[in-house]
Amino acid sequence: MTCTELIEYLSQYIDQELDTELEKAAQEHLASCHNCSIALDTTKKTITLGRLALAKPLTGVKREKLYSQLQQVFAQQTETGS
Ligand SMILES: [Zn+2]
Repeated sequence: MTCTELIEYLSQYIDQELDTELEKAAQEHLASCHNCSIALDTTKKTITLGRLALAKPLTGVKREKLYSQLQQVFAQQTETGS
């Protein structure tokens, strides 16, 4: 599996929607590819924060905190990608 393929399957991988074969290939790639394991980590965090944001209405303060956390995650992703 290539990095491009892995990124394509990433959200399905996190949701455990991949076929056994693909999931195995993804796991093998993640074990050997540092960039993709970071991408997986970042995407997981982003999805978790996103789900939290959708799950319940937030007060203004909490929402601002969440956005700043999301911005940090994206900033980190940009840094590691360069
Ligand atoms: Zn990769």
